[in-house]
Amino acid sequence: MKKEKFSELCRSLAQSKEHELTRAILPIVKKQMLKNNKSKLPVIWLETNDSGDNNISFMNTTFPYLGQVLSDMIDLLYSNTFMAAQGPDALNILNQVSSLYRSRFTLVVEGAIPLNSNGLFCSIALTPNRPVTALEAVTTLGNQAQYVVAIGTCASFGGVTAARPNITGSVGVRDVLSSRKVINVSGCPVNPDWFVGTLAHLLMYGLPELDKLNRPNLFYEYTIHRHCQRRSYFDNKDFAEKLGDIECMFSQGCVGPRTNADCPYRQWVNYVSWPVKANTPCIGCTNEDFPDASTPFFMPLNEKVSSRAPQVLFKGKELSDE
Ligand code: SF4
Repeated sequence: MKKEKFSELCRSLAQSKEHELTRAILPIVKKQMLKNNKSKLPVIWLETNDSGDNNISFMNTTFPYLGQVLSDMIDLLYSNTFMAAQGPDALNILNQVSSLYRSRFTLVVEGAIPLNSNGLFCSIALTPNRPVTALEAVTTLGNQAQYVVAIGTCASFGGVTAARPNITGSVGVRDVLSSRKVINVSGCPVNPDWFVGTLAHLLMYGLPELDKLNRPNLFYEYTIHRHCQRRSYFDNKDFAEKLGDIECMFSQGCVGPRTNADCPYRQWVNYVSWPVKANTPCIGCTNEDFPDASTPFFMPLNEKVSSRAPQVLFKGKELSDE
């Protein structure tokens, strides 16, 4: 299958009645692998500072289900979340696979990277002498990987972990690996299709087409607002008076007009619903400035920024005004 055809399929499936992207992906991946004599995508997955929501979302992938992704699509060489090994055994595995698959593995990072206190707010392992910080692990492995994928908004841009006052000095992976391309699959959490679809693209065609924030255009090209089912209410200035009303949620704090993602037609939870359909506003979780620019969540978009009180930031040992 040609790359253009694959992109077309991703889009059309998301808009069709059966919009089950990953159900269609797996057979194509298998065929392509067989045809090109390719092996599975070798993946090293580091979970750093986050809530774990992205791996839970990934585990809830439906078509294919998690077992199929792991057995047929990716070779999960190391994951401090999913693996059974612990302590020195786990660290040995990490050292072995990163050397064996050097320049061939895909590094998946889930979570932000704290910079303050030399990165000690997050360590992924302990050696007999010292902790291995997320900062050290991501810097080292990121420079050895073929591709780097940041899964979720914390890993992509800092997200909730870097929200004010950000006492850990957390940043997204792109700020730690500034000299190389990091593919950002943002979302809080990520939609399983966005992540599995990105891995499938890497496996079959290499780097997908990215937007200005390095997110795959396949899933982030258009704003929520553009395809929202309540758009006609917005155009007619017919706004909800309270949460639960059927009209446009702009008055209730919706950030859809400045948020790129395909939630209105791909949907969530086994393709059943998404926030606006469930009568709450989009909170803009895929955005570079989420959550600070989205809060207070239920305040209209044009009033959010002006309502913000001066914040106190933690910089090193000192507290200072922003
Ligand atoms: S609910 Fe949000 S995304 Fe939908 S039309 Fe209104 S402002 Fe736009």
